[in-house]
Amino acid sequence: MKRAHVLIICAAALLAAALFLASRAGPLENTAFAMDTVISVDIRGMSRGRTKKLLKECFELCREYEQALSRTVAGNDIDRLNQGETVAVTEHALAVIEKSLMYSRLSGGAFDVTVLPLVELWDVGAAQTSVPGNADIEAARALTGYENIVIGGGNVSLGGGARIDLGAIAKGYIGDKMKELLISRGCESAVINLGGNVVTIGDNGGKPWAVGVQQPFAAQGELAAVLRVKDKSVVTSGRYERYFLREGQLYHHIMDPATGRPAENELDAVTIVCDASADADALSTACFVLGSEEGAALLESVPGAEGLFILRNGETVATPGMAAYMDAP
Ligand code: ADP
Ligand code: MG
Repeated sequence: MKRAHVLIICAAALLAAALFLASRAGPLENTAFAMDTVISVDIRGMSRGRTKKLLKECFELCREYEQALSRTVAGNDIDRLNQGETVAVTEHALAVIEKSLMYSRLSGGAFDVTVLPLVELWDVGAAQTSVPGNADIEAARALTGYENIVIGGGNVSLGGGARIDLGAIAKGYIGDKMKELLISRGCESAVINLGGNVVTIGDNGGKPWAVGVQQPFAAQGELAAVLRVKDKSVVTSGRYERYFLREGQLYHHIMDPATGRPAENELDAVTIVCDASADADALSTACFVLGSEEGAALLESVPGAEGLFILRNGETVATPGMAAYMDAP
């Protein structure tokens, strides 16, 4: 009897030791799938236990905000607004909608979260491979216009049959909130990557973080530039990831609200460096629609925002302050 006890205790001790070792040695799961993309959080300089706990908190926050800001979650604020209700929206939805309006005004309507009817019509990224007809494009375009977003006393409503999609700014906003969470927990060094929206905390062991800018239409990992940043966010909008081809023409997912069609200019992509990721995200979409000249002019009006425009002919154009983040040629 006594022997059996000893054996059981030994077995339990072995199991505990094995579990302990496994928890120390196993890979830390620092990626997840959310917001239709792969997200990762790379935390440096914290214990394994704290890192694990923080990763869990980060991914939970991400899912919670995604539920609040996605247009495809039945019954959330965005869905109710899109159904025509007047909604006393949550703090987060209000913050994102207010910032969206600010960038709509600043960009002369190039950035406009009411483009949803056009996004649905073109349906780029889904099975769609046909180009909508002019009448359908005009009908969808008639439903757009950020002037239809009405905010008052914490309530939001959409006039003129408008419907919104926060896809061009929500990832940035959520990245900022993940950064705030990590900093509030004592983290001094980390990189958050929300499907290419990069948010950095501090630096990487005394050196700036190196963020690669993908060369459009080249093999994954082939870089057009490397940006060295500390505490900044780096966000890219481009036409090389979500698109379809039809009769030699490329149709991508960023709409020009003025034409009702995918933005057509000299750009393949634009990358923005900025303190806050929500700003970088909105600006990358706006600059992609505006093109390099008007885009650079827009960036001049936003303190601390810099842009790197990658042209279809392979050239790059950078705003003056971008040099601080780039290696000397
Ligand atoms: P990504 O989604 O690839 O990160 P963006 O931040 O540029 O790229 O956002 C593009 C998304 O935003 C589109 O998929 C669409 O849902 C929405 N959108 C498209 N055109 C516009 C626009 N002109 N203004 C605001 N949102 C847009
Ligand atoms: Mg964007």
